[in-house]
Amino acid sequence: MFCTAGSAALAGAVKAPANIARFSERQLDWGATALEIPARLEYAAARAELARGRAEEAQAHLERANQLAPYWPDPYFTLSMLNFRRFKPDALFFLVGGLRAASHNFHFQTLLAINVLLYAVLLWIVLSTIACIAFALRYLPFAAFRLSEMLRERFHATLPRLAALLALLVPFALFPGFVTGFSFLVLFTWYYMQRREKAFVVALAVPFAALAFFAPTLERLTPAADPASLVSLAARAATAPGDGMLIQQVERAKAPGLDMEQNLVAGVLLTRQENFDAAASRFLNAIAEKPNNAIAYVNLGNVYYLQGLYEKALEGYRKAEQIAPADPVGQYNLAQAYIKTLLLAESSRALKSASAHGIENVKASYGDGALSRAQVFTRTFTPRELWRIASREGRTRIGAPINMVYRPLTGFSVRAGGWVMLGSVLLVVFLGRFVKRSLLAFQCSNCGELTSEGTSNSERGSYICASCAAAIENVSSDKVIEALLRQRRQKVLVRRRQAIRVLTMWIPGVRDFYYGRITRGIAMAGIFSLSAVFLVSHGYIIRDWQSFDTDLPLWKLILPVVGLLGTYIISFFSRHYYEVRNYRTPLLAASRSGESQSTRRRSA
Ligand SMILES: [Zn+2]
Repeated sequence: MFCTAGSAALAGAVKAPANIARFSERQLDWGATALEIPARLEYAAARAELARGRAEEAQAHLERANQLAPYWPDPYFTLSMLNFRRFKPDALFFLVGGLRAASHNFHFQTLLAINVLLYAVLLWIVLSTIACIAFALRYLPFAAFRLSEMLRERFHATLPRLAALLALLVPFALFPGFVTGFSFLVLFTWYYMQRREKAFVVALAVPFAALAFFAPTLERLTPAADPASLVSLAARAATAPGDGMLIQQVERAKAPGLDMEQNLVAGVLLTRQENFDAAASRFLNAIAEKPNNAIAYVNLGNVYYLQGLYEKALEGYRKAEQIAPADPVGQYNLAQAYIKTLLLAESSRALKSASAHGIENVKASYGDGALSRAQVFTRTFTPRELWRIASREGRTRIGAPINMVYRPLTGFSVRAGGWVMLGSVLLVVFLGRFVKRSLLAFQCSNCGELTSEGTSNSERGSYICASCAAAIENVSSDKVIEALLRQRRQKVLVRRRQAIRVLTMWIPGVRDFYYGRITRGIAMAGIFSLSAVFLVSHGYIIRDWQSFDTDLPLWKLILPVVGLLGTYIISFFSRHYYEVRNYRTPLLAASRSGESQSTRRRSA
């Protein structure tokens, strides 16, 4: 039950080898250097065989996929996994092959980079939201308590606590979204937090600020994630046949400032279409744009070579050699032209140079049947050159793909969101210096209920709330007072523990953050958010647009569901935290000396 109708149909397509063979032949005739589509069909067939538990057949399909498109890493990684499961040492061999292919495959690199980045952003947003919920539950009541006292004193409001809590929630409702929620929360609750909680809040905001800061660098991922961008088309054109549709797409791609690159890509495809005059004029245009253009000279040489004009070809290759003497493709093609013009000594020198500079890597990129047809090699862009093009093309585009997930969740662009969050943290650090202790609410040193300087009682050497004070009124024996306070404390604690249990049980991690267990909270909320993001995205936030995979392996559902359930079960059944009496009660003496956040620690 692992596969769906889609992949079964694809497997069926592979079983019609006559059609596929004819299609492959045509692709090779039009100059394809790797057979991407047949390779992906083989891959789909392998997945279908795997679902039926037939590893041998799957292995054969995967190896066939490797032969068709040698620099496509996915089949290598599947082969590695397959052999690993059967305890075969070949697993390592295929893993190395996959990594090698990945280092040559721009398309794979972009998908990996963009998915890793989007995963990190989503994870961090979910994790921060969970922490914010916990801090809101913990500290918004402090702010609401103080506000309610003001409402009662000045306006004689009815239900002042409810009114105050509603008033504090209004900004969150008016400006919903992650960035505004985080900023309001920090502004309202910072003064009550422990030092390590403050450090954690800063640590939550820093990656968003970094994201804003590096937004221009990340913009290069925008064209990389767009199948219609020039850089994506250039990556495809490296192995594609001279297909009229693709040529049209390249010519229509809007990439201001990249005319030279556009000419090169179109020229390569036109050469493969054997449209030699049009191809030559593209390469000449590219040379006019950038005179020291080794890529254009090599490919221009190819245009002449393929027409049998070996002297003119030699001219182009020699020009390329002057500019880039270490280019293996240029050297190899030069050697071929020397052979045709019977300059055999020069030819063997150029061949040696080609192999010294890695012509084997170029040969290895050619799929089954393509190498024997290639008289000379096409000089296409390396992944490194493609990344450079992507970064230049990205400059002319607005909004990184991160904004695709960032904006709907936050209501801000990556840049604005990061600066707003950082700004609110800096503002509150600054404001925190001026907030007067006496304006803040704190907890009763006995029972932990909220109180403030105006309503508390400090006769016994520490602040206790009005209710605790009332409980021991007119009692003079210290032992009786101690007993009465303990009795009240236990009653209040049990009640509060129940309330907190109910409030914090809905999302794993909230209770850990609530009780100040930040490391455990990060672990719980982290696993929870990773599972949630994986479950929603099935592993890819931006899918491989060239993929035929339509099936969803069962483990991609089971794993995240186990993660979600696991964190829920742990937070439901884990031993209930006992509230450490780590109340925000100012020490009487310290409260005057301006040590605003000193707390009193006693075990419960
Ligand atoms: Zn009390």
